[in-house]
Amino acid sequence: MNLSELTLDREGLAAAIACEDAAFNEALSEEAYRVKVATIGPEVYLRGLIEISNICVKNCLYCGIRRDIRCPRYELSEEEVLATAKIAAGRHFGSVVIQGGERTDPAFIRKITRLIKAIKAIEPSTEGEPPLGITLSLGEQSREVYEEWFDAGAHRYLLRIESSNPDLYRKIHPDDSLHSYDRRIKALYDLKEIGYQAGTGAMIGLPFQSAEDMADDLMFYKEFDAPMIGMGPYNPHPQTPLTLAGAPYPSEKRRFALGLKMIALLRLLMPDINIASATSLEVLDPRGRELGILSGANVIMPNMTPEDKMVNYNLYDRKTLLRDSHSSLVEELESKKIAIGYGQWGDSRHFRKCPDPF
Ligand code: SF4
Repeated sequence: MNLSELTLDREGLAAAIACEDAAFNEALSEEAYRVKVATIGPEVYLRGLIEISNICVKNCLYCGIRRDIRCPRYELSEEEVLATAKIAAGRHFGSVVIQGGERTDPAFIRKITRLIKAIKAIEPSTEGEPPLGITLSLGEQSREVYEEWFDAGAHRYLLRIESSNPDLYRKIHPDDSLHSYDRRIKALYDLKEIGYQAGTGAMIGLPFQSAEDMADDLMFYKEFDAPMIGMGPYNPHPQTPLTLAGAPYPSEKRRFALGLKMIALLRLLMPDINIASATSLEVLDPRGRELGILSGANVIMPNMTPEDKMVNYNLYDRKTLLRDSHSSLVEELESKKIAIGYGQWGDSRHFRKCPDPF
């Protein structure tokens, strides 16, 4: 396949995804990077990732911290979260992401509300810098809870659809009301209506997933008009039902190539959105996130979770081996003259309703 033959409709995207020609893949990454720089500039924005808890009420069939997996559980205290956010502010990261397993108990909800307010009150370390921006990634909540957290000061929310194909979604989740595809879609639209920059994303290279499914994921992002996307290769966890069922999935090499290709295609499809270069890329290749940036992504999320807790946020195999690689990644990007957008929220240009004075 030649780059000039690429069309950005479902058929063209599926053909590009299925194409394994290395020259095509390389040309696609180069073109996506060119489009990124021309549209939103070369900067990469940082989000300090704080994994607040690995306790989850859900049981997704692919997840290494699902409810039924036996693993040490933890929950960061408010003091630990605030201390970590202060480190992020001190390093001029601009934003933090509060991510954790899904919980809807009132004590947890109120704790998050208090934390959002406390993080917004942290004094910027340099005059003229905005207070930390806050992205939440805490799963499906009621509309009232989303409103409470938005009113407290959070302004971005990542809720991955994981697969936009309802049939595939049902194959990778338990068949019960807690794991309803329709409920997840409703949550995404609630977030958008409230005013969040509502991001989503899907796994790439899942068992049972076709090139057409991945093309549909890209079309779903476009139709939802997502201002930010966090997607990455499927990496199996050895103790999950999905892995133990033994259904085949693409090789590591293929999943890595697919991960980069989906970033590149999405950048061509939605040139002005924020796209994260996911940790799951780096599990498959030591230069994974750097190559994600060079394929069109513009956000990375250095993991700031205290190390003794981070080892138990084991969503998939080998994830926790990455704890030391973030500063070297930033150095590598800077050595390539890729500027880091320090001290900025780095909001999506696509999100026009939100004024971004920073
Ligand atoms: S994927 Fe998220 S919601 Fe599902 S079990 Fe894992 S942490 Fe919980």
